[in-house]
Amino acid sequence: MLTPDPLEVLITKEEIGRLVERMAQEISEDYRDKYPLLLGILKGSFVFMADLVRLLEIPVEVDFIRLSSYGSSKVSSGKVRVIHGLNSGVKGRDVIIVDDIVDTGLATRFVIDYLNKRKPASVRVCALLDKPSRRKADVPIDYLGVKVPDRFVVGYGLDCDERFRDLPDIRIVEG
Ligand code: 5GP
Ligand code: MG
Repeated sequence: MLTPDPLEVLITKEEIGRLVERMAQEISEDYRDKYPLLLGILKGSFVFMADLVRLLEIPVEVDFIRLSSYGSSKVSSGKVRVIHGLNSGVKGRDVIIVDDIVDTGLATRFVIDYLNKRKPASVRVCALLDKPSRRKADVPIDYLGVKVPDRFVVGYGLDCDERFRDLPDIRIVEG
């Protein structure tokens, strides 16, 4: 049974709080007179989204898209599928993709392309974590929390076989 070791904390909840606050400030300034649509990628982004929207100083619309998951593997299959698509209209909207972590970049790239087909006014990417060492697809991250090393991380919405999403900090799972 996988149990997170207390020594394996990579990012504390205090650090996460500061990162999210800084990102919320950047977004609030950039979208001052706008009404962006924040599109979270489920499931991993749900905690980040909840904290982010409460720190924003602008009105926003929130929606989610659910992609096919890793299943029980820690390595991306490379194939992305939409399990649950958009409910909001995207045409003419300023959309901000809210993602937990950009790893290979395939999932985020897929969502950028999915949105661009629907003629938004703009699309930007907001990601809490960036694991650049494994990138396979080009993903411009407009609002980034922090870069992480090539380790499998859990907590703050991120899971390992559906566990640990509830952890308030971000930890490393070995193996
Ligand atoms: P991609 O490889 O397409 O950039 O990543 C797609 C998704 O895989 C991420 O949004 C995230 O949900 C999951 N993922 C990537 N790296 C990690 C990781 O280190 N830990 C966890 N829990 N999920 C990850
Ligand atoms: Mg995700």
